Amino acid sequence: MKVFIVHAHHEPRSFNGALTRTAVEHLRSQGHEIVVSDLYAMGWDPVSDRRNFTTVSDPAYLKQQQEELHATEHDGFAPEVQAEMDKLRWCDALVFQFPLWWFGLPAILKGWVDRVFAMGVAYGQGRIYENGVFAGKKALLSLTTGGPAESYAEEGGQYGGLSTLLYPINHGVFEFTGMTALPPFVVYGPVRLTPEERTAELARYCRALDGLVARELQAMNS
Ligand code: FAD
Repeated sequence: MKVFIVHAHHEPRSFNGALTRTAVEHLRSQGHEIVVSDLYAMGWDPVSDRRNFTTVSDPAYLKQQQEELHATEHDGFAPEVQAEMDKLRWCDALVFQFPLWWFGLPAILKGWVDRVFAMGVAYGQGRIYENGVFAGKKALLSLTTGGPAESYAEEGGQYGGLSTLLYPINHGVFEFTGMTALPPFVVYGPVRLTPEERTAELARYCRALDGLVARELQAMNS
């Protein structure tokens, strides 16, 4: 199985860093192929505009989706964007690893989505949801929070249910482009856990990844 992890944390020794290293080691030990885009380490530029393209459709007025379609038809994406698109096309499963920031994706990861999920490449001409371009791919949000689980409870959580907060990503990005969004893997407030509890969370992540692999194998055999 080919797994593409997009990692968005600025500190390699963070718990997010530990989660990505755990995933890479665990999945590789089972013979799976893993590619990681470590966005801060790459110096990923999250700003989406004409820098995404080597081609120009309309020099007088920037209409981003029109330029995306034009770039799709004329091999006109900037090399760093094209490289991420190639990894996306390659993978069977996409994983976003990130700390929840302001109830959403850190800007560097949101900007990765803005630039890489381009019209013509990830969607367009009616190719959305069940007809989506990326049908057959699985997608997993693996995230950490500062707040405790009870604050994100679906019923009565002060911050609102986590599935509601993640809906724009799971439904608006993954499912929109045809992927199957898996139940998210969440570590609530890792900073307040004991070292032993954090180690247990890393082991729980390995089990969640085993579930992802099992679903993939099941789909491939059905
Ligand atoms: P870290 O603080 O890096 O790690 C926690 C602990 O794990 C550390 O002690 C670390 O040493 C230890 N550790 C690292 N590796 C291992 C290992 N291998 N084994 C055991 N222990 C290990 N929170 C919310 O809930 N909602 C929000 O909307 C929100 N918005 C935010 C916005 C911003 C701009 C910022 C900066 C933070 C926000 N937060 C929010 C908090 C943020 O989500 C948490 O701080 C973050 O998720 C914690 O994850 P981390 O990887 O940074 O933890």
